[in-house]
Amino acid sequence: MRKFSFSILLLTLLMALTTLNLSAQRGERDDDDNWGGDRFRSRQEERDASDLREGKHQDRSRNSSGELNPFFARPGFAATTGGTTAVSSIIDHGGPVMNQPVIYVIFYGNWNQTNGSDTAAGKQIVLDWAAGIGSTAHYSLNASYAKAGYPTNGTAVFGGSTTLTGSYSTRLTDAQILSTIVSTINAGQIRRTPTSPNFDPNGVYFLVTSSDVTARSGFCTQYCGWHSASTQTFGRLRYSFVGNAKRCVTSCAAQSTVSPNGNPGIDGTVSVLTHELEETHSDPDLNAWYDSSGAENADKCAWTFGHFQFQTANGSWANISFGGRNWLIQRNLLNGASDFCMVDATHN
Ligand SMILES: [Zn+2]
Repeated sequence: MRKFSFSILLLTLLMALTTLNLSAQRGERDDDDNWGGDRFRSRQEERDASDLREGKHQDRSRNSSGELNPFFARPGFAATTGGTTAVSSIIDHGGPVMNQPVIYVIFYGNWNQTNGSDTAAGKQIVLDWAAGIGSTAHYSLNASYAKAGYPTNGTAVFGGSTTLTGSYSTRLTDAQILSTIVSTINAGQIRRTPTSPNFDPNGVYFLVTSSDVTARSGFCTQYCGWHSASTQTFGRLRYSFVGNAKRCVTSCAAQSTVSPNGNPGIDGTVSVLTHELEETHSDPDLNAWYDSSGAENADKCAWTFGHFQFQTANGSWANISFGGRNWLIQRNLLNGASDFCMVDATHN
């Protein structure tokens, strides 16, 4: 009897403790959810409005489905091809276009993991992309955004990279993303050569995170990456956040089980990096090339990979080769009398 009541007492105590623990967890989650659902929307809209006032608007379509992969890719099958007919026109809103972007990559978080993705080999895939993408036939589509006063030959070059070490946040705010890039530049940690100035006005500065890091404003739920611009004491900064697609490989990558470089997370990240680079090239200050609904060049072709895909040795699909590797990179918009999503000038 006593034993029985003791058990009841223990059970009651356990239940009380469990309830307490659950509500504590719920409290934490509620806090996180400030950035989800309706509350997210109103705060996002607020932020978008203020960004526009400051002339530093992030990727316009980050709230649309265009940024997350909307296609359910069946493993083993080619990625979504996309259409071959003309799409609605992209419009010049008068702002500057970059001549030849210089790619800078800041690796953030822990890139020495044992998950087969956030590793030295994973970083090398990103660096090989940065070294090669700007001189491909694919990238030359960006020459179609040249206009009076703003020539561009449709190329980009690699500037440099750095890996931040030490403690880091696993839940970055947009303000932290900007301040991290700015302090890395100010510290002279990312320069083209040891004698170059700290800041390159032709630079596009990417913050690329390890897969244990998220961005509070909606990485994996609202977008896979975004680009923006900000006026700093050293000049006009064009920068971009691209999260590690390993964190949500079915939302931010086209292939989730196999990929051209044996790293689905990083191979997914590389297509988003290309997307943001091409948008920054044609619309660095968010006042140049975008369409009537705010979509920039790469937005209009997001998550489509064209009709010239080929299967690589490991069974994954690719559509471009450079730098001794195969890649699956989304199409970009060829701007002309009519606009088409293309892999390069002669392949759609
Ligand atoms: Zn975009």
